[in-house]
Amino acid sequence: MGKVYLVGAGPGDPELLTLKAIRVLTKADVILYDRLVSEEILNYAKPDCRLVYVGKEDGKHTLPQEEINRLLVYYASAYEKVVRLKGGDPFVFGRGGEEALYLKEHGVPYEVVPGVSSVYAVPAYAGIPLTFRGIASSFAVVTGHECTGKEKRVDWRSFRGIDTLVVLMGVKNRQRIAKELLDAGRNPEEPVAFIERGTTREQRVVVSTLREVASEPPEVKPPAVMVVGEVVRLREEIGRLLENLRELEGVYHA
Ligand code: SAH
Repeated sequence: MGKVYLVGAGPGDPELLTLKAIRVLTKADVILYDRLVSEEILNYAKPDCRLVYVGKEDGKHTLPQEEINRLLVYYASAYEKVVRLKGGDPFVFGRGGEEALYLKEHGVPYEVVPGVSSVYAVPAYAGIPLTFRGIASSFAVVTGHECTGKEKRVDWRSFRGIDTLVVLMGVKNRQRIAKELLDAGRNPEEPVAFIERGTTREQRVVVSTLREVASEPPEVKPPAVMVVGEVVRLREEIGRLLENLRELEGVYHA
């Protein structure tokens, strides 16, 4: 029986991979990867490594989670080192927890390799700190996916007292989310940033307000991180500084 490594690939920029992730990737016999994993990262695989795509194609659905779980057990029975590579951190909305449980139930040894999450890294590349002395002393992370229909599980009122709100998977429901937050009593003039494809060369930032997003939501394409809070205003100054730095260092632009 082989071992499965649940590995975080970081938010996009390959330089945000951890040393541990690179070590595990270069030794893997099989890598099962997601849509949010950039191709440059797969270059760390050895030449005879088997690459298995289990992510979402445009419009089509992801392989059902149950299917991915079974594949992991199958590959672990056939190969020594199996990597399940996920965008960001495997335990932040990555269903890594479910995979770990399934592997445990099936007697497959596994290890978790945490990754740099898009939660804070994507805002950081856009010049937005999630906390800032005197402006924001708390932040919460929530999925925007579960705010309608049968999946309605998020109580938006509970975020009223949280300074900065980070919404993942929120693009489709952005208007609805903004409305919920206004209903919950948040300030309509509160700034909102959407950061598309953060930390990659295609990074794009759209800044708006809760009022605007609730009435006429701006064009945004997924994947994007939505940040709600006064810290978004810091972007102008911090963002400019970052751009200068990155130009000097030849890193991606904010
Ligand atoms: N485990 C991941 C999150 C998976 S949920 C992590 O820790 O980052 C997928 C959501 O993450 C996307 O819908 C988007 O909201 C966000 N996301 C991940 N990578 C991103 C990127 N490079 N740019 C913008 N948003 C990203």
